[in-house]
Amino acid sequence: MAKTNKKFYVTTSIPYANAGPHIGHILDPLAADVLARYKRIKGNKVKFLVGTDEHGAKISRTAKTQNKTPQELVNENSVKFKELKKNINLSWDDFIRTTDKKRHWPAAQKMWRNLIKSNDIYWKKYHGLYCVGHEAFITEKDLKNGKCRDHQREPEVIEEENWFFRLSKYSKKIESAIISGKFKIIPESRRNEILSLIKSGLDDVSFSRPAKDLSWGIPVPDDPTQTIYVWCDALVNYISAIGYGSTRSVDISKFKYWWPADLQIIGKDNLRFHAAIWPGMLFSAGLPLPKRLFVHGFINVRGDKMSKTVGNVIAPEELIKKYGIDPARYHFLHEFPYSDDGDFTYEKFEERYNADLAKGLGNLVARVLTLAQKARLRQGFGGRGKITLRQNKNFIIAVKDAAKNIEKSIGELKFNDALVAIWRLIAKGDKYIDEKKPWNLDVDSKEFKEIIGSLLYLISEIGRLLAPFLPETSEKIANAVKGKKSIALFPRLQ
Ligand SMILES: [Zn+2]
Repeated sequence: MAKTNKKFYVTTSIPYANAGPHIGHILDPLAADVLARYKRIKGNKVKFLVGTDEHGAKISRTAKTQNKTPQELVNENSVKFKELKKNINLSWDDFIRTTDKKRHWPAAQKMWRNLIKSNDIYWKKYHGLYCVGHEAFITEKDLKNGKCRDHQREPEVIEEENWFFRLSKYSKKIESAIISGKFKIIPESRRNEILSLIKSGLDDVSFSRPAKDLSWGIPVPDDPTQTIYVWCDALVNYISAIGYGSTRSVDISKFKYWWPADLQIIGKDNLRFHAAIWPGMLFSAGLPLPKRLFVHGFINVRGDKMSKTVGNVIAPEELIKKYGIDPARYHFLHEFPYSDDGDFTYEKFEERYNADLAKGLGNLVARVLTLAQKARLRQGFGGRGKITLRQNKNFIIAVKDAAKNIEKSIGELKFNDALVAIWRLIAKGDKYIDEKKPWNLDVDSKEFKEIIGSLLYLISEIGRLLAPFLPETSEKIANAVKGKKSIALFPRLQ
């Protein structure tokens, strides 16, 4: 594998810290994790950022109902999000919190001042439909029977004077950055969605709220009567985490090194903010746009959107406890809602677990290792060299082919395709055993050793290719092939 010295900076949208995580929250960091692991293996310098969005009136309100201060509430919830690292085996490098007064606040305020310098912040009377669930102004288009589609509640009509950001000024610039591919949006359907929105012209956006209504937030520089609204707060996390806003020279060079992000990963509900407001802010502040934005769908549960009111929220730790980390990773990578929404049911999860993990991968690895042990080949299996002698040309070609497919699929964030490429190798191994019937052969025969040597090569390569997706399993296979540990990968579910 060719090593590079390239940097790879991947970010994830930061969840709102008014509650703990549900399984929908693992999509961003899981996708980023696969990319980060893959890039690290390839020799890239990687930064993988996650965090929590911790300001806003909804946080204050939730805290009040729980008899907590907003700070106590976000402290508790950010810990719950941090636990995803261990629960799903995520390899992030940094976790930024928007209540971080040392790292984040100076960045948001610096961004604000830069928008002012570009003459893009102005004072205006505003009148709009505010959805508490959204924490945002919504439009008539977001309503159904007078209620917000996503939150099933009537918006409040709010009239007030706020600071506005001149987003309209950047419509054309954003549009051409997307069309030219300088700012690449994937998949195509989301790119078209945002382009058609931009075509009709972007409206200016309210960028502050009166401090009396929104006290839990970052004060507007030089105007303590106003608080910075979510855009110039939460979105700035992608640069505050890498040193923007700091005056220390080490941070300044850190920022120069990492920005622009190579990839930003978000859910479809965040498209407008990340593909219109954020690039507008970056243009205004004279900063380059991220290179790519990946926008995925949601995971529904049995066809319904996950929501507390429906009572169908599934917490990641429930799944992990029941099935383990890699089965959960496998399922969500396989079902990754690339363009459409995905669906979760326990039945489907168990079906896939039994078919692909227990019967597919687990069974092949167990069969090969049992046969290898029988021939005491494993003790003599001192490294790749010895196996190389027993390499089977068909397997070498198949592995190379799979690696190529994985590279392409990962580049396009089509995790499903990458896994299918690996599972094709598993099928190939199964077919080979069934054809050769090594159990009928004398274990000391040359033929037997050749067959098992080929299969050991194949499963060790399968393990290697699995590393970004199922890191624990990958390691287990590598150890088992070396003969260090016995292995029972995925016990069949009843
Ligand atoms: Zn809403």
